[in-house]
Amino acid sequence: MGLLEKDPDMNTMQNLYVEQLRDLYSAETQLIDALPKMVESAHSKSLKKAFSSHLEETKGQKQRLETIFDKLGEKPTGHTCKGMKGLIAEGEEMLDRDGNPSVRDAGLIAAAQRVEHYEISGYGTARQFASQLGDAEAARLLEATLHEESSADQQLNRIALEEINVTAPLAH
Ligand code: FE
Ligand code: ZN
Ligand code: FE
Repeated sequence: MGLLEKDPDMNTMQNLYVEQLRDLYSAETQLIDALPKMVESAHSKSLKKAFSSHLEETKGQKQRLETIFDKLGEKPTGHTCKGMKGLIAEGEEMLDRDGNPSVRDAGLIAAAQRVEHYEISGYGTARQFASQLGDAEAARLLEATLHEESSADQQLNRIALEEINVTAPLAH
């Protein structure tokens, strides 16, 4: 089998788009499983709240993707997002660690912001593909999620800067 053997899924932007959507669907599904552990593990009340409200938002993001798949007449499953798998694994390493509560929270935020940036990148591409393929309704739904991921990232930034990083000990 040659390295550049013809792959029918790579023949059109439409096929690539559907594959990218499946990757996002897998990412959101994995995140819905992972976020409750982040909520539980966070020490700061505002961080707990931010994680749990993003969990609810994430369920809606998964539904938006289902709406897009319904309209395309395609199934959303069948692809695993390895990037999200790795990002969640890194976040979970933090859950198992003991230490100063604010330093732990700063570590949880670091992991969560990597997730948000990864999603921002994926949704930016998918939205662009949707509009190039002439699906304005899908582009609008993807844009709505993109906006939520950005807001979640900014909210984590605020919590880190205003609350966590100012209470965490800097050094011994
Ligand atoms: Fe998301
Ligand atoms: Zn992926
Ligand atoms: Fe997110």
